[in-house]
Amino acid sequence: SYDELYIKSVIRSIPDWPEPGVIFRDVTPVFKDPKAMRMVCDAFIQRYMNTDITHIACIDARGFILGSVVAYQLNLPMVLIRKKGKLPGDTLSQEYNLEYGTAAIEMQTDALQPVAEANVLVFDDLIATGGTVMAALSLINKLGGKVHEVASLIDLPDLMGSQKIQDSNVAVFSLLAYE
Ligand code: 5GP
Repeated sequence: SYDELYIKSVIRSIPDWPEPGVIFRDVTPVFKDPKAMRMVCDAFIQRYMNTDITHIACIDARGFILGSVVAYQLNLPMVLIRKKGKLPGDTLSQEYNLEYGTAAIEMQTDALQPVAEANVLVFDDLIATGGTVMAALSLINKLGGKVHEVASLIDLPDLMGSQKIQDSNVAVFSLLAYE
């Protein structure tokens, strides 16, 4: 089990960043605090041990940091979902809308082999509007993989992202919520 209050005491809230009106939940202090980091990673490891997950797909970039520990401990392949232009070889790209403009994420087309058996855990640090995760789900779907669940350290339920993901019939698990 994990100490939600302790982890929340480590996460830092930065008002008006990256723009006025936004409270940014800064998880970098978790990475600097071995006790918090271990608590967070162990909670995910507990949840996903003895499941039939075949791959952990981690979202650029803080998703990589937590997801790699979980993948290592569960002895599972870790695959990367990266911002556009970062991955070499054959890639598939998915655009999504930001508040202003668009962004795109990519996966390597051979990321989920053997794809007929792929049962993917999608991992990120935080779900806000859900746009990033929905784009990730679309990539995995186009590659032919199934999704076991979406995992995040933090959910911002007021932004309705986790609701949108669940409405698309994909389960979501977050360790912490900030209203
Ligand atoms: P969404 O696509 O759900 O609107 O935004 C989630 C993505 O943006 C995640 O990849 C996450 O890393 C990043 N993000 C948005 N807001 C925050 C925040 O307050 N804190 C952190 N750590 N990441 C955020």
